[in-house]
Amino acid sequence: MIGLGIESTAHTLGIGIVKNGKIIANEKNSYITNEGGIIPMDAAKHHEDVFDKVLERVLEKTKVQLGNLDFIAVSIGPGLAPCLLIGLKKAKQLCKKLNKPLVPVNHCIAHLEIGKMTGAKDAVMLYASGANTQVIAYEAGKYRVFGETLDIGVGNFIDNFARYAGIGFPGGPVIEKLALKSKKNYIELPYKVKGMDIALSGILTNLKQKLEAKYNLNDLAYSLQETVFAMLVETAERALAHTGKKELLLGGGVACNSRLQEMCKIMCKERGAKFFCPERSLLVDNAAMIAFLGEIMFRKGIKESDLSKIDILPRQRTDDVEVTWK
Ligand code: AMP
Ligand code: MG
Repeated sequence: MIGLGIESTAHTLGIGIVKNGKIIANEKNSYITNEGGIIPMDAAKHHEDVFDKVLERVLEKTKVQLGNLDFIAVSIGPGLAPCLLIGLKKAKQLCKKLNKPLVPVNHCIAHLEIGKMTGAKDAVMLYASGANTQVIAYEAGKYRVFGETLDIGVGNFIDNFARYAGIGFPGGPVIEKLALKSKKNYIELPYKVKGMDIALSGILTNLKQKLEAKYNLNDLAYSLQETVFAMLVETAERALAHTGKKELLLGGGVACNSRLQEMCKIMCKERGAKFFCPERSLLVDNAAMIAFLGEIMFRKGIKESDLSKIDILPRQRTDDVEVTWK
């Protein structure tokens, strides 16, 4: 069985191919800026412009003939509407041309399901990405959100602060480098865990004020990571305790951060849980995970041939998805 996946929820246009549960292609082209954040219409234009080239690369590398595909999977949400529309349009065009069914995939759940590649079987996932920050686990027939940000996603939070400090998009990798330059000079920041949830906008304001007050940027980057990652790890640990699960899986672009990985490892070691973290190309937004979950769904008969029935769902919530493939 061969399926093609398309990812276009935010900054990344990705196309991947999965053959019998194995990833054979995972290509992408991401929208970046030198200054400022994502402009959704610009990102959508980027996706439209690079689509054919990325598809060509995938087909060249794998020697797969489009006609041999069994299905096309596409992430329909959550994400930026203009970007999602490009992915869905391209997916539908391919389905029509090739007369293949469409498999609509939830982006967040794809991040979790791809964790199976690392050996995780029934994990609590700390999903820390640009727009999304959630602690998710499968329980009683659904992927449930045990904790989440009450305002902005942790990646957007870091990017917003970085932008304020004159750094382009994405800011996360730069903040990580600056933090390493700090002599671990911790500057106290608000710590906002509310039950299982976290709040970030107040910390963002506080950081900006401190930058205005000429605090050292390296120290602020260091303190940002220490504070906010501790909040993430605390809520993930609560979810482990609550669900009784013994595995923690990291996902999302912010999970590329070595300090966050380290803090998760320490927590897991202390409570006897196993820690799983996919390789970088599967942590960030990618289409292999869309094809991967697409195949699982397709094998259970979840597919649509009437293309008019599928639309984008920019605000689709993880716990709204009917999980009929498990
Ligand atoms: P995603 O939406 O899952 O693709 O993740 C994108 C987000 O990950 C952006 O907000 C990036 O700034 C962030 N990010 C990427 N690498 C790092 C890193 N090393 N440390 C912190 N954040 C990162
Ligand atoms: Mg993502």
